[in-house]
Amino acid sequence: MLGKQGWRLLTRPDSLCTRVIKGKYSPHGNFLSATRRKRSSETWHALLHGRDVLRRGLIKRVGPGNSINIWNDNWIPGALKLKPLLRQEHVIVEQVDELFIQGTRRWNEDLVRDSFVPWDAEEILKIKAGVRMVEDTVAWNYERTGIYSVRSAYRLLKADERQKEASAGNKSGSSYADGIWNKLWKLKIPPKIRIFWWRAVNNFLPTKRELKRRHVEQEDFCETCGEEGETLFHVAFKCPLARRFWQSAKDLVGIKIPALHPATWTRDLLSPDKVLNTDAAMIICGVWSLWAGRNARKHGRVSWNSGAAVRHISKMLEDLVCSSTTQEVRPDPLRRR
Ligand SMILES: [Zn+2]
Repeated sequence: MLGKQGWRLLTRPDSLCTRVIKGKYSPHGNFLSATRRKRSSETWHALLHGRDVLRRGLIKRVGPGNSINIWNDNWIPGALKLKPLLRQEHVIVEQVDELFIQGTRRWNEDLVRDSFVPWDAEEILKIKAGVRMVEDTVAWNYERTGIYSVRSAYRLLKADERQKEASAGNKSGSSYADGIWNKLWKLKIPPKIRIFWWRAVNNFLPTKRELKRRHVEQEDFCETCGEEGETLFHVAFKCPLARRFWQSAKDLVGIKIPALHPATWTRDLLSPDKVLNTDAAMIICGVWSLWAGRNARKHGRVSWNSGAAVRHISKMLEDLVCSSTTQEVRPDPLRRR
């Protein structure tokens, strides 16, 4: 009901009601960015409450893209929170129009794939920017018409509440993705390796087995040892090169690989009851290095040496552990800050 009035404030800026309320409470600003003031009326408070619901479900429809902030605005209909799940360090794009091929409203697919984690990239590439739209417009995401309705807002609130209750009750409550992310966050590993592992857990890495499954490649043998069905598990532990690597790791830092199951090992490594966190960090960094080495070889760069790789990784972990007194701000990909 009050969301409805907020909706009117946004979409019918010239109506009398809008002008009265705006004139009184936020003469210069936008309703969505107005703050709660000490001495404002009940109506205004209630409107602001309705606004929170609105803010949750409002989405910008992409036209020119020049008014949409990639990281702060809601603009991806298929994303859980309507915006990218996480931002990788190397990414510098800020506005949606920077993702277009210059002079068009078509996505620069390479740039999109390079700037976002795979599931965000997929959802972005599904969006069709309005070619005739003069500006980006605001719509309500939870009705097909794009027009706010009390019914859908109520449904949204209910769903939020259920999720909140579930995660308060914890146990099975927090979502699968949430749980993985939390565990991953506890490990002291560099952010890029965290993202690498997230991909590994979700089976997003282009191993040859995976590429063959998707009919991208015909063959799936390991290019290092020739064994058929190259999986990350093979690259990480079974390939002769990997065995040599872990032997050096054992000699140099004393780490031993626990028994791991090929189907569940990427998740098992994140379970403190199965593997110590420090061991898990080392193993994950090791697998990352093996994967990076495998890619380098695939692209013709061959200098990869198992002993040097182990030294590099243990130094990296040492640095991380030593610098961990400075507090890291935890980005929460699944919830609003
Ligand atoms: Zn191999």
